[in-house]
Amino acid sequence: MLIGLTGTPGTGKTSASKLLEKRRQWKVIHLNDLIKKEHLYTEVDEKRDSVIADMELIRSRLPELIDEMEKESENKMVILESHLSHYITDIVIVLRAYPPELKKRLEKRGYSEEKVNENAEAESIDLILAEAFEWCDKVFEVNTTGRTAEETTGDVEKIIDYLLSGKEEGLK
Ligand code: ADP
Ligand code: MN
Repeated sequence: MLIGLTGTPGTGKTSASKLLEKRRQWKVIHLNDLIKKEHLYTEVDEKRDSVIADMELIRSRLPELIDEMEKESENKMVILESHLSHYITDIVIVLRAYPPELKKRLEKRGYSEEKVNENAEAESIDLILAEAFEWCDKVFEVNTTGRTAEETTGDVEKIIDYLLSGKEEGLK
């Protein structure tokens, strides 16, 4: 089973997924690292200090990697961690944060004022959540505001255990 963990930068995707890797025998694909390591991008955006992901290359690379990871993973669970994962997976967990808190996290990370504002604005209009509803079959939301990364990780873990239990099939 492939589950996406998405959200505006700063909502805590990488932190939560790293904690999950420690707690559980699930495998996580940190897509941003993979994009950089394997040059899965079309160009470098100097102004934003980021890269433009090549979705075609990513889509062609992932199936083999997911296959490999499923073999080593408990319950064949693979988590795709990235602000792009809702474009790729059918099931997605969207991390959320109250925009003023998100701003603080991104400032701490050393983002430019422009980048901080851009991301806080995207979060305030629920951009990724709206995209997730457009692209995915199943969308779950986790609020990280005022909570620790450990607490957030626990929420994500509960959703994944619920999906693994197969109980939601009975709700149809
Ligand atoms: P993302 O991968 O979504 O960009 P990170 O996991 O890198 O986010 O976290 C961004 C920042 O927010 C880090 O400084 C991290 O310590 C902090 N952080 C992560 N999760 C939480 C949380 N649940 N509550 C508060 N701060 C968090
Ligand atoms: Mn990250």
